[in-house]
Amino acid sequence: MDLYEYQGKDLFRRVGIPTSEGRLATSPAEAREAAHELRGPVVVKAQVLTGGRGKAGGIKLANDPDEAEAHAREIIGLDIRGHVVRKLWIERASEIAKEYYLSLTFDRGVKKPLFMFTTQGGIDIEQVAAETPEALVRLHVDPLEGFQPYHARRLVFGTGLEDSDEQKQILSIAAKLYEAFVSFDAMLCEINPLIVTPGGEVRALDSKFTVDDNALYRHPDIAEMRDTEAYPKEERAAREKGVTYVKLDGEVGVLGNGAGLVMSTLDVVALAGGRPANFCDLGGGGQAQGVVDALEVITADPQVKAILFNVFGGITRCDEVARGILEALTRMTIALPIVVRLDGTNAEEGRRLLTDAAPPNLHVEPTMLDAARRAVELAA
Ligand code: GDP
Ligand code: MN
Repeated sequence: MDLYEYQGKDLFRRVGIPTSEGRLATSPAEAREAAHELRGPVVVKAQVLTGGRGKAGGIKLANDPDEAEAHAREIIGLDIRGHVVRKLWIERASEIAKEYYLSLTFDRGVKKPLFMFTTQGGIDIEQVAAETPEALVRLHVDPLEGFQPYHARRLVFGTGLEDSDEQKQILSIAAKLYEAFVSFDAMLCEINPLIVTPGGEVRALDSKFTVDDNALYRHPDIAEMRDTEAYPKEERAAREKGVTYVKLDGEVGVLGNGAGLVMSTLDVVALAGGRPANFCDLGGGGQAQGVVDALEVITADPQVKAILFNVFGGITRCDEVARGILEALTRMTIALPIVVRLDGTNAEEGRRLLTDAAPPNLHVEPTMLDAARRAVELAA
């Protein structure tokens, strides 16, 4: 789960990483009020779950509440690479002498957290890595050993940073970032830029924070930070119903049981010349409620023109799935064409149940390829 800048900064503050004081605003009036409370120049920052906001016009300096309100008016509603701005973070403007970069992420190859630090912050880190790789210090931390002060010293001295006052602050910030990473079960903690003010104070000016979804049960307060309104309505529904759902951009809605089968169904749809609109994994069961939930999620996506049901009965019996589908169709009406392929345990009985009782928009096909072709044809 990705956090907004203001949420990440909240977690930074909890471990003692210095940030600027700020307020959340959802309207130009609130932005004005926030600027008034903060006094002096502020920066108006679009809160979207994507980077590069500065370049996209989502970050503006304001000298007084009037200007903050005017900037807020321009930034709210702005589309930053597909993310529409609904919230702003208004914070006390910082004077910047230097911009550094500090992050902590997982290096899956090495199975260890990886620190990256460079004094060439502010810009894209990929650019630094590509153009001046020697300026980027990379350092793994053995999770069993944990963070040790020598890690931070290697980071700081590795960049040739000489100012002892800066060194001290960054050593402490690196330790706190590791603490945040571990204690909040993060996948990524990135500070870009980590600034040095003209007075020599080091502070996190931005935050990119990703928390492991699988660990959210341990952090109910962070789980609550999820901004459900930022998700399309079918994704919200999927989350509420506990349905595994992934949005794609074609026109065939795919429903299968088991991740492997679902993945190959996507391939077969492509082979048949179509494009999947999304997919849902029914998992093990084929009970009516599971089918209703999945169908509700899939059909909430307006791009879906046909639905392809692909079920392989192993432990799950196809006759049970067929009954589930039939019962689901008595509980909800679906005008879209539905193509069903059943194979495996009790497949024949399942197919018979469907051909006998299914509505005319439901088509039963014997093989996966035939079913995909039919669905693609009907979606066209
Ligand atoms: P991003 O573009 O989404 O990464 O957003 P950032 O929060 O990193 O801001 C982008 C850039 O805006 C920073 O690198 C700074 O140069 C500038 N900026 C952000 N906040 C301030 C501020 O308080 N004062 C000044 N002078 N510049 C800022
Ligand atoms: Mn940034």
